[in-house]
Amino acid sequence: MRPKSPHSMQRVLLFAALAAVVLGLLCAAWVANVSAATIAIVGVTTATYLGAAELGGRWRDRSRPNDGLSALEQVIEQATNSSQGASGWIDSGNARVDAIAQHVMALHIEVSTHRRGLEYVATHDPLTGLGNRRYLSERLAQALNHIRSHPHISISLMLIDVDGFKLINDGLGHAAGDAALCEIAKRLRALLREGDTLARLGSDEFALLLFNLQAADASSFFGKLQNEISLPLNLDRRVVNLSASAGIAEGVAGMTVHDWQRHADLALVAGKRSGRTRLSVFRDSMQSDAARQLRIEHALRLAIAHDDLTVWFQPMIDGSNGHVLGLEALCRWTHEGDAMSPQEFISLAESAGLISALGRAVLAHTCRDLADLRARHAGLRCSVNLSIGQFLDSDIESDLFAAVDAAGLPIGALRLEITESLVASHESGVVPTMRRLVERGAEFCLDDFGTGFSSLDRLRQLPIKSLKIDRSFVTPLQHGDDVMVRNIFSLSRDLGLDTVAEGVEHEEERRRLCAIGCTVMQGYLLARPMPTAELIKWLEHRVVRG
Ligand code: C2E
Ligand code: CA
Ligand code: CA
Repeated sequence: MRPKSPHSMQRVLLFAALAAVVLGLLCAAWVANVSAATIAIVGVTTATYLGAAELGGRWRDRSRPNDGLSALEQVIEQATNSSQGASGWIDSGNARVDAIAQHVMALHIEVSTHRRGLEYVATHDPLTGLGNRRYLSERLAQALNHIRSHPHISISLMLIDVDGFKLINDGLGHAAGDAALCEIAKRLRALLREGDTLARLGSDEFALLLFNLQAADASSFFGKLQNEISLPLNLDRRVVNLSASAGIAEGVAGMTVHDWQRHADLALVAGKRSGRTRLSVFRDSMQSDAARQLRIEHALRLAIAHDDLTVWFQPMIDGSNGHVLGLEALCRWTHEGDAMSPQEFISLAESAGLISALGRAVLAHTCRDLADLRARHAGLRCSVNLSIGQFLDSDIESDLFAAVDAAGLPIGALRLEITESLVASHESGVVPTMRRLVERGAEFCLDDFGTGFSSLDRLRQLPIKSLKIDRSFVTPLQHGDDVMVRNIFSLSRDLGLDTVAEGVEHEEERRRLCAIGCTVMQGYLLARPMPTAELIKWLEHRVVRG
């Protein structure tokens, strides 16, 4: 392909073509989200070099042969058609044209290599080396195309959230957190089958794109995953046991990548709301549930901001003589005219990130009312329930002291209840804070005892003063079954702890508890939770011991 005669129009065309190549490379790089500075450097270098070469050529050799231009056209063609860069340059016979051509090729190769590197950076997580959110989106789009052409195939997206990961970061430091994430990534990678994809989406959130797996059949896979994740993890000379929650949704032809991710996310949120460490499969009804949750969440946010939550108090009583030994503060909220179950709105507050604000409102309310009650009944103490979110999302220590200080109470006027399962699953993050609070005069009670699988050894190490036997062990007392209560009570006594039995509803339960020696009780038989005004009247006729 030899041009017939030199013509200035050809030069213009040549420059336009070169500019198109460079622009093409720049666009490709831009698509890969390459930094503007890198694009600019490569672009300017290319343009300057070509411009200088062209001008120099013009000044030094006004009669440049056409075969040089033709050869350059070849380079441009090769560079344009090959993603790897032009190769196999054949000498044109014009040294300067050859030099320009070699440089164009070298630049092209450099930009391509750079682009591939930057593409990797833009689509991968630097800590674990896994694909990132953008990488996952690309794979989801490919998977949806695949589903469109192979409707019989099942591809599922599983989102995985490591439970309580923030506690590792906060309790053991970020280096330990990073090490934990790398180990989790390694364990998850080991579960991949051919064609599957693993990505890290956020701090402790991973995604698995699983081929040939229907969402409904995923529980055995999740079982394996949970086994891997829960293997002991050595961090900073401590052994940590983790767990994970997951949501899964199957890809359906016609859906968008966004829909798919949203379905898996809704499943994950629904699973977490109903308790951690489980797999939840997407159902259509989750969309309307989510809309309802959003409405309630909004109302709860307003209720907290407007101080519309109230606190009721349930007395703890010496079942052998009826003396009042303390109170438990229980949060109450009326939504659209109905009293909503605390279990429901507390877990909603936890998942919506409102639990710290709710906890602060409960603490302020409780301390205010307790100060009033103590003016009538000196030394009366009150238990408050603490949620994991209060340890994770806020400074529970300063929240507590702010509340007692504002009401003029000593910290010892409160007992802090924390569930056994919470401590068992987040020991490394929670226990150091508990210890600090105990040093400052606070007292902890392990709530719902017997349901959280604490080992005896762990129990011995915990900075607690008392434990509350869960209602599920108290109820069988009505039928004469006292095995669990007797064992828990003697264990508690051996550890030097005080014991409270909760959920006492029947006279037979009270009688048996007294026979065992477990006299501190709480339950509908003795007193129901009540608002402050009612409690004040109720206490008038009672013996109150501090
Ligand atoms: P919990 O801490 O185990 O509180 C005891 C629950 O048992 C209370 O339910 C209480 O009303 C109920 N109860 C007491 N005696 C009996 C009985 O004899 N029979 C039966 N069936 N139930 C009895 P409530 O008020 O519905 O609270 C449920 C849970 O919500 C609490 O369980 C606690 O985990 C949580 N909660 C309540 N208020 C707060 C709060 O202010 N903060 C936090 N973080 N959690 C709270
Ligand atoms: Ca409690
Ligand atoms: Ca309880």
